[in-house]
Parts: sequence; C-alpha cells; structure tokens
Amino acid sequence: MVGGGPAGALAALALARRGVDALVLDKKRFPRDKPCGGGIRYGVYRRFPDLAAHLRAKVAIHEIRRVLMESPGGHSVVASGDGPFYLTLRRTELDAALLERARAEGARVEQAVRVTGLEHVAGGLVVRCVDGRAFTGRVVIGADGVNSVVARAAGLTPGFADATLAIDTMEETPLAELSMPEPDMMYVAYGYKGWPGYGYVFPKRDCVDFGVGFLVPFYKRVLAGPPYAHHARFLAEAAARGVVRGRSNPDNFKAYRLPLGGPLPRTWADRVLVCGDAGGFVNAYTGEGIYHAMVTGRHAGEVAADAVTIGDCSAARLAEYERRWREEIGEELTDSVRIQRRLFANPALADAIIAAAAVDARLCRLFALVALGEASLRRHRLEMAWRFFLARLRARWRRKRA
Ligand SMILES: Cc1cc2nc3c(=O)[nH]c(=O)nc-3n(C[C@H](O)[C@H](O)[C@H](O)COP(=O)(O)OP(=O)(O)OC[C@H]3O[C@@H](n4cnc5c(N)ncnc54)[C@H](O)[C@@H]3O)c2cc1C
Repeated sequence: MVGGGPAGALAALALARRGVDALVLDKKRFPRDKPCGGGIRYGVYRRFPDLAAHLRAKVAIHEIRRVLMESPGGHSVVASGDGPFYLTLRRTELDAALLERARAEGARVEQAVRVTGLEHVAGGLVVRCVDGRAFTGRVVIGADGVNSVVARAAGLTPGFADATLAIDTMEETPLAELSMPEPDMMYVAYGYKGWPGYGYVFPKRDCVDFGVGFLVPFYKRVLAGPPYAHHARFLAEAAARGVVRGRSNPDNFKAYRLPLGGPLPRTWADRVLVCGDAGGFVNAYTGEGIYHAMVTGRHAGEVAADAVTIGDCSAARLAEYERRWREEIGEELTDSVRIQRRLFANPALADAIIAAAAVDARLCRLFALVALGEASLRRHRLEMAWRFFLARLRARWRRKRA
C-alpha cells in the first residue's frame, strides 16, 4: 500500500487477515493530521462491525442527532431522527486507530517514506522512494490521496483536472474558543451564497470543525485570493446568525484539494489498484470521502489478497475490484455527481427543496438521510418527488391565502 490513511489501512488490514504479507508506506509519521471535516455516516458501524468496538475505544466520537440545512437564499430547516444521524471525530485519532488495527493484525508499516514512482519488473513491481530505497511487491495499492503518485505512474490518470476538484478548508478550534449552542446539531449551507460550493460547521467532542469548499474553476475565476478570507467570512456570518459562538482561529486553519468529479474511468491496471481519494472515491455532492476510502480500501485489499494467493495479479483478474465497488457504492457515487451539478447550476432548486422540506417533516428527514448516506436516493426518489411537488403546491396555496 502506498498511503496509510483510511483507504490504505483498510486495504492492509484485509490483506493481513487473509494471511498475505502487507506493507504500508506513508510519507508521514502517525498520528498525523489530514485536513478534513471529520464527519462520517453512522452506517460505518453497520458496514464495519469488526472495527466498531476498536473505534469506539480509541477515537473520541461525537454523535450528531440533528442537521440544520440552509439554502442559498437563506431558507433553513432542521432535520432530526430517532437516533444519531452522523458521527464526527478527529482525523488524527481515526487514522492512527485504523493503522494501528492493521498493524496489530499483521501488516507492516514504514513511515516517513515518500514514494516517487513505480516500475514493472519480472513477477512484480518496484516502488521507488525519495530516499533511494526501493520495495518490491506483487501488487501495489495506491491509497496515496488526491495527489496520487501511484494512479499517475500506472497510467490511470494524468492527475485530477481542475474541473473535477474542490478547494476545501477546515479548522478544528477547541470548545473554549468556539462552540455551538446545540452541540448535537451540525450546520450545512449547500450552494452557499448561490455559489458552486458549501459551508459546514461540525461540533465534535472537544472542538468545533468548520470550513467551506468551492469548485476550483469557480474559485480561481471568481473568488481568488487566500482561502482563509472566505473561510473566516463564512464563520463570521454563521456566528452573526447564532449558529456558532466564538471566532475563527487562523492558527488552526488548513486548506486542501478534494476530488469531486466521481471515480476515475478505470481504477485497476496490471498489478495496481487505486482506492480512496487516489481513485476519486468521494461523494461529489456532500464531499464525504472517509467512508468511501474505507469501503474501497477493503475491497482492494480483498481482491489483491485473492490475486496473490492464486498467483494471478493481471489487470484482468484485478478488474474484479471495480465490479465489487460498483456494486456497493457505484450508484451512490454516480447520483452524487448528478445532484452536485444540478444544485450548483441552479441555486433556486436548492431554495425550493429547503422550502418544501420546511412544510413536510418526512421529506425533510428523507433529504437529510440521503445526504448523510443513511438512505438510498433511488429507493426513495419517487416518494421524495411527489412530496416535493405537493409541498410546493401547499406552500404556494398558503402564500396566496396570506
Ligand atoms: C477540508 C476537507 C474537509 C473534508 N471533510 C470531510 C468530511 O467531513 N467527511 C468525509 O468523509 N470526508 C471529508 N473530506 C474528504 C476526506 O478527507 C478524504 O476523502 C479522505 O481522507 C480519503 O482518505 P484516503 O485514505 O484515500 O486518503 P488520505 O486520507 O489523504 O491518506 C493518504 C495518505 O497517503 C500518504 N501519501 C500521499 N502521498 C504519498 C507518497 N507519495 N508517498 C507515501 N505516502 C503518501 C499521505 O501521507 C496520507 O497519509 C474532506 C476533505 C477536505 C480536504
């Protein structure tokens, strides 16, 4: 594995559990931080029951029970459920806990090793590192994030184009400086200011994490300048409306790239698989990628383990990986690109959705469940469509009577 984030750790764990020698190379030393909102769907416990107890023991996980959703025109609505909707945590803790699990179950980990390239040799691949070291393996899994060296070296991408990237910001500031009046409620402003982007404020156990994200072409053309100015303005506006108390601390600020254009056209090659951000596995509508990194990491590890065990690591054999991830999350990722494009192109639609959700509690809950990965859009699409149109009619009728 190149990369020991959630994708690499899950891949290494799957290999180790199947008795295959697994080596993780990461340029950083863990615990390391990763710029991130640190929000993850509650369904992670259902998908990875084998990790739930470990994560609960090692990571300070905060449960979110309500979500305040705001539209570009300033309409807002609060969705709540019977139980928790979503979880928030610090990436420093999550990533260290996942890698520790992989190591405890037999994976080897080399830290502070920056990979620079790949080379095919008879019967395997050589991974070259900046310090001159080289490691040989039968399969290489690229879990090296948005700037993946592996995906490029394997010819799977020339690198993500600007049109498929967002620039995202985050800041984890302690509760003593920044807090939310309702600590079990997160805030999401989708299509913030009518722009192709979003703002979020996530309460965590001991801090508040917030940020903004914008498609890169829009950012370069319209906003420009240092990202911190846009980040701090979003928080100041949220504070003025009482969503959050306190102010931004620039010392805690970070910005990073996020792939928002859907998965790469191909995620496998001869002796190579790519997972997580390296393969573009991020929900293009919500920017959620930790869960997808874990899911694709596990599939990549299992497929690679089977390939090594039977002695066939060809591209044709590894293509099984793509079949597996498509079956589990392909539909969601395809829909997410469509939703993002429609909402970013048409802020009035986002306004109409939030206005409709305000008059239909079930619709409001469905929007939140779909957005937070707890319900399938395709399963609920029909009900959401008729509720949306009825709610719009009701709202229009109310306005006429008033
Ligand atoms: C500001 C921001 C906010 C976000 N908020 C959320 C959120 O709230 N919820 C959510 O689910 N997702 C969020 N995301 C997305 C999420 O952070 C990523 O989808 C997720 O980290 C992907 O995991 P990964 O394992 O694929 O990659 P990463 O977590 O990026 O891990 C890649 C690893 O590879 C290592 N590496 C990279 N290059 C090399 C190299 N050449 N040699 C050796 N090692 C290398 C890195 O050191 C790193 O440890 C956010 C992203 C950003 C930028």
